[in-house]
Amino acid sequence: MNLVSESELMKMSLTSYNEFLSENPPMSDSAANVQMVKRIGSKISTAVEKFLGDHKMGDRVEGYNWEFNLVNSDQLNAWCMPGGKVVVYTGLLPVTKDEKGLAFVMGHEVAHAVARHGNERMSQNLLAQTGAVALDAALYDKPDETRDLFNTAYGVGAQVGGILPFSRLHESEADKLGMIFMAMAGYDPSEAPKVWQRMIDLNKGPKPLEIMSTHPSDDKRIADIKAYVPHAIKYYRQEGE
Ligand SMILES: [Zn+2]
Repeated sequence: MNLVSESELMKMSLTSYNEFLSENPPMSDSAANVQMVKRIGSKISTAVEKFLGDHKMGDRVEGYNWEFNLVNSDQLNAWCMPGGKVVVYTGLLPVTKDEKGLAFVMGHEVAHAVARHGNERMSQNLLAQTGAVALDAALYDKPDETRDLFNTAYGVGAQVGGILPFSRLHESEADKLGMIFMAMAGYDPSEAPKVWQRMIDLNKGPKPLEIMSTHPSDDKRIADIKAYVPHAIKYYRQEGE
């Protein structure tokens, strides 16, 4: 259900993205972890464009201008806006542990964007709040509320609880695409279930993880991810040859 045009959302994402970065300045390029985020981002975006091109879906990334940032925050979070604006929070790094772990999470976030899951969430939110889905009218009438809806739809910000998580179907689709993207980017996809397992374990602690409020996880999901490894690994071997 994508009732809002993707180009409108891409325009809106630029405003939200710039606003976010002015409040949360990205870390300097000299930091090793920033280099890692940008290295993964470059490989993942190349993989995504190749995969979509191979499947005659290159229009999904039309107008994308990829940017990959690391912001200093203890939140466990990461997101990708339409247009290819990706932010990773430093709080995520202890859980993703190394480059291939982070490559899975970034692949997953990029998958939500190119599969237009955020658009579907935004459309549903707008419909629920205003009874209509004219984005420009909503922005004109209620600019702040509409921006909040957008940020919620894309997992931006610190809201834990009270926000609509991605559906199980969206999560499953983003997991599978994310594993293919990481594999094509040269990262072993058998790492994927371990990353999500660490998040589940950590989420049992006293502080719920930001990323888990939008990307709910359970044992069934881990099993599904594990079952998909043999398929995703074909892309890894292909790229490795
Ligand atoms: Zn997700």
